[in-house]
Amino acid sequence: ASPLDVNAVRADFPILDTRIGDAPLVYLDSGATSQKPRAVLDAERRFLETANSAVHRGAHTLAAEATELFEDARTAVASFVGADEETLVWTSGATAALNLVAYSIGNATAGRGGAAASAFAIRPGDEIVFTESDHHANLIPWQELAARTGAVTRAIPVHDDGTLDLAAAAEIIGERTRIVAFPHVSNVLGIVNPVAELTALAHEVGALAVLDACQSAPHLPLDLPATGVDFAAFSGHKMLGPYGIGGLYGRAELLDALPPFLTGGSMVTTVTLEKADFLPAPHKFEAGTQPVSQAVALAAAVRYLDGLGMDVLHARERELEKRMRDGLRQLPGIRLLGDAPAGVERVALASFDVDGVHAHDVGQFLDSRGVAVRVGHHCAQPLHRRFGITASVRASASVFTTEDEIDTFLDAVSGVRSFFGADA
Ligand code: PMP
Repeated sequence: ASPLDVNAVRADFPILDTRIGDAPLVYLDSGATSQKPRAVLDAERRFLETANSAVHRGAHTLAAEATELFEDARTAVASFVGADEETLVWTSGATAALNLVAYSIGNATAGRGGAAASAFAIRPGDEIVFTESDHHANLIPWQELAARTGAVTRAIPVHDDGTLDLAAAAEIIGERTRIVAFPHVSNVLGIVNPVAELTALAHEVGALAVLDACQSAPHLPLDLPATGVDFAAFSGHKMLGPYGIGGLYGRAELLDALPPFLTGGSMVTTVTLEKADFLPAPHKFEAGTQPVSQAVALAAAVRYLDGLGMDVLHARERELEKRMRDGLRQLPGIRLLGDAPAGVERVALASFDVDGVHAHDVGQFLDSRGVAVRVGHHCAQPLHRRFGITASVRASASVFTTEDEIDTFLDAVSGVRSFFGADA
């Protein structure tokens, strides 16, 4: 039996009272964006009502209070991923975090950041490696960096069962490799990739390991420093927090050495008309006004998750994941993407293709039963192409998902093909 009191959890999420037509909302789209518990909504509102003001400046009491809450939030979110606060840079989300790394390295390549940064410069013919299963946010910034520097991109392939081809990875990652970017958990496959192994392959050749932790941070206990990764990105809105806030974890010596991406106010010490000196990390990467109330609310989100217990949540998700996947496997005409053998670690997320019915039609049919899923390519076009399709249906669970909801979802999916005449 699961130690999670899911009914108590559900009571914390006001949106779960929503009805879609006559049906109760069954929200299975947390992989796209999560719902927010009252503690998060309240934290943001409380900050705005009682402490709102500009941080890191101003002599007044409120500014000091806001600054303290903002920096406490950094400590809380950093510690949620096992990190020290000075190694957590606020960003607007994972996309911004990954672009920050790519552009900082690009700036180092352009000679910014002095001798310490020059070690990270990319030379023509250097190689940047990512995977076939990456989200566009962990592909395109690297393609752009390669285009600006003359580097070459290479992709680690995915096996039919959705796991990464580690033998191919070991061949692809070589002495010209400078960066190895990969997802902790693919947002389409839900499989947990072997972070330590891929990081070791990167480090053996002196390359940086960049982890997209977007789909793992909400579901797995994380200790980013222990994995050895150099950088990791995540989005607040996928982990019960607000929009517009996310984080970049970076190893301290890298954050020290690399030049900033965005520049402007709040990230400098001395500025003349000719040049600027930058604050130490993380502040040198946080130009301009930061998402302060969102940071405070994200801290409330990670406290909420910690309160439930990430180990407890992960154990429960495994049960939900099994129920979802076993149920889908039994339905005729359903092909699961990346249906890796039992024993492969996963989060409760499954993508599938319905024979003879377009994913968008599936999505609309499920919506008519109150079931919210994601349809399309989920910002992973290369991965869909690899599986020979252009779109899929994705169901993803969260802390409040019940067995009954999974069953409602499975029952709805079981009716799709006959409704569209695809079972003839
Ligand atoms: N990586 C993965 C694996 C994702 O699932 C997402 C969001 N779909 C992103 C990156 C991008 O996150 P955001 O849009 O919040 O920046």
